[in-house]
Amino acid sequence: MNPHDPHGEAVAASFKWQSTSQGMSAKSSNIDEIYACDVFDQRKMRERLPKHIYNNVLNTIESKGRISMDDAEVIATAMKDWAIERGATHYTHWFQPMTGLTAEKHDALITPDGQGSIVYRLSGSSLVQGEPDASSFPSGGLRATFEARGYTAWDPTSPAFIVRGTNYATLCIPTAFVSWNGEALDKKTPLLRSIDALNKQAMRILKIFGTDDGVHSVGSTLGSEQEYFLVDRNLYFARPDLVSCGRTLFGATPPKHQQLDDHYFGSIPTRVNAFMADFEEELFRLGVPVQTRHNEVAPGQYEIAPLFESTNIACDHQAILMDTLKRVAGRFGFVALLHEKPFAGMNGSGKHNNWSMSTDTGVNLLDPQDETHTTRQFMTYLCAVIRAVHLHGDLIRAAIASASNDHRLGANEAPPAIISIFLGDMLTDLIEQIEKGSTSRTLKGGSLDLGARSLPDLQRDSGDRNRTSPFAFTGNKFELRAVGSTASVAWPNTVINTIVADSLSYIAGEIEKQLGDKATDAKRDQVVLKVLQGVVKEHKAIIFNGDNYSDEWQEEAAQRGLPNLRSTAEALPALERSVAKKLFKKHKVLSGSELESRVEIFAEKYITEVCIEAEQMVSIARTMLLPAALKHQRNNAETINASEQAGVECGQLRESLDAFADLTMRFQSQIEKLEAALTLPDQPPLEQCTYCRESVIVAMDELRALGDALEVHVESAIWPLPSYQELLTLR
Ligand code: ADP
Ligand code: MG
Repeated sequence: MNPHDPHGEAVAASFKWQSTSQGMSAKSSNIDEIYACDVFDQRKMRERLPKHIYNNVLNTIESKGRISMDDAEVIATAMKDWAIERGATHYTHWFQPMTGLTAEKHDALITPDGQGSIVYRLSGSSLVQGEPDASSFPSGGLRATFEARGYTAWDPTSPAFIVRGTNYATLCIPTAFVSWNGEALDKKTPLLRSIDALNKQAMRILKIFGTDDGVHSVGSTLGSEQEYFLVDRNLYFARPDLVSCGRTLFGATPPKHQQLDDHYFGSIPTRVNAFMADFEEELFRLGVPVQTRHNEVAPGQYEIAPLFESTNIACDHQAILMDTLKRVAGRFGFVALLHEKPFAGMNGSGKHNNWSMSTDTGVNLLDPQDETHTTRQFMTYLCAVIRAVHLHGDLIRAAIASASNDHRLGANEAPPAIISIFLGDMLTDLIEQIEKGSTSRTLKGGSLDLGARSLPDLQRDSGDRNRTSPFAFTGNKFELRAVGSTASVAWPNTVINTIVADSLSYIAGEIEKQLGDKATDAKRDQVVLKVLQGVVKEHKAIIFNGDNYSDEWQEEAAQRGLPNLRSTAEALPALERSVAKKLFKKHKVLSGSELESRVEIFAEKYITEVCIEAEQMVSIARTMLLPAALKHQRNNAETINASEQAGVECGQLRESLDAFADLTMRFQSQIEKLEAALTLPDQPPLEQCTYCRESVIVAMDELRALGDALEVHVESAIWPLPSYQELLTLR
């Protein structure tokens, strides 16, 4: 270790971590035994509840009833007994307020009995309803601060679970969070409503085709892959920008980063693999089914993908996954960065939102069969998605908008801000046939002969993938690839469910109108094709199979009339338009005021995040980087003076010093400019967003460029921030 290295201690400390983790033995736990052991799921309810109450729970999960208070009392007792056996001492109503994070307030499961002893208790009413003080959660004007009441309501469709640490275990009960008036203050309530809306409309289509026999409900399914970075904990704490903003505000690009593509799918470093094993074990305990792990594109970047589940549970699990990721990383001396762009110049992180629709009997409604051209029902669901995304792509864009995701979208590593659909060859061919009014063939991929006798023939898909599309059909589901890695997936899926429900409702309405009562199957297929033909003609402009990263696409999309909403400031207003208000109201997902409150919350969050970053930047620049630059300048000046006194010619060194001093001065004056830009004009939130985008962020970008230019000149021993090289390679 270099004794002059200012971060040497951090580096040394992290090697200690590495040696401990490398000494760890392979996992001895039996996954069979631990899987879902900390979840009060249907299996445990079946074992612990009287049969009729268990059946009532199942009915509630299938939207066929509600749980009575008497039943709740019995369920609460069973849940409490189970939790206490597993070491829990507290319980909490676990919810997802509009902060985008999860919230919990712990209450003891233990109460003094008044006779010198304690009793364990969880009443039915404590299970079903809670009343946290809601005043400090964002409500976007839905309620004033003095109106503190808010309620949490048990969501029996998502199983309770136990979160544990070294000396604590807490029973977490998933809940919805609403105001005293019943207005949604969280992400779960509208999601559940959107699932109901989708169910209602999707069932109409099944009825049309007579395939609803034995089906109780249709819901969406979701699997969301999560990308993240790991950085060494000691280095993290030496970077105030990482601590307060989750991303680096300064940092020159190192000579080697991801150019050689040598990290993607590379062998996983030992300490990281040890972390992943523990991380996954915790997720398994919590019944979160994760499947895939690998290195991502940037050095220090990784991905974990879960198995898909019904959307409500998948969203809860996604929140649990992010929490667990951060918690377990600490045990291995890492900090997990979920920010969309922790390092400039390197790939950022996203969340690929794989979405489909499925019956409760397990039929994936977006699964094309071998002879796809004969499956009118599949075509109907497909066309509903096409119509939905064409009409409301701006809402999808708004649903993924955030200050942090702005750094990533459209940066040639993630889809652009233009929302379009990739269908691939087979489905595009099918859509063209529908447009012509007759379907007669399904393109096939055939097989691939690899030319070596020992290798098997491979079955080829009928079309290649398209990694550049924001909304891509990937075999039997759509993948929205533009969601940010910090985001809760509940809101984007609320939007997708709602807009698809709306299109299903339109298509079902048209078919029902034209079909009348007693139509034959042949007549039905004819009518369906005609309706879908109309949909394709009107909405095919949303389909784009080419390179979404190209400049030509920007031009072509404009000609097609597809919006290109580059930043959050441009994206959020879509939520304010009357089209959006009518849509959410019609499907009972959000009332007018609930939607307005969200716009306000998203805008405020954007402004606050940008301002925190700008202030942090000013502080780092003024108290860390400028002093380092001045010190470097003085050292050089003294060296030159001394050298010249000794008779050494220093012409070129003087020139460099001049240039450096000029850079330092420009850096200093840009600090003042950024600080001045931080006085926000007194405007409504959406206009303030635009101001932030056009003034504050521009000033930040300029300050960063100057700071990074200083970094490559200043002696490394006095540069006060750990470098990108250290942050990205120490693992
Ligand atoms: P990639 O897109 O990186 O190639 P995979 O094909 O392995 O990844 O799958 C990505 C995700 O899609 C996984 O989380 C998987 O569970 C999910 N997925 C698969 N089928 C469905 C479905 N019917 N509905 C929702 N998600 C699904
Ligand atoms: Mg993917």
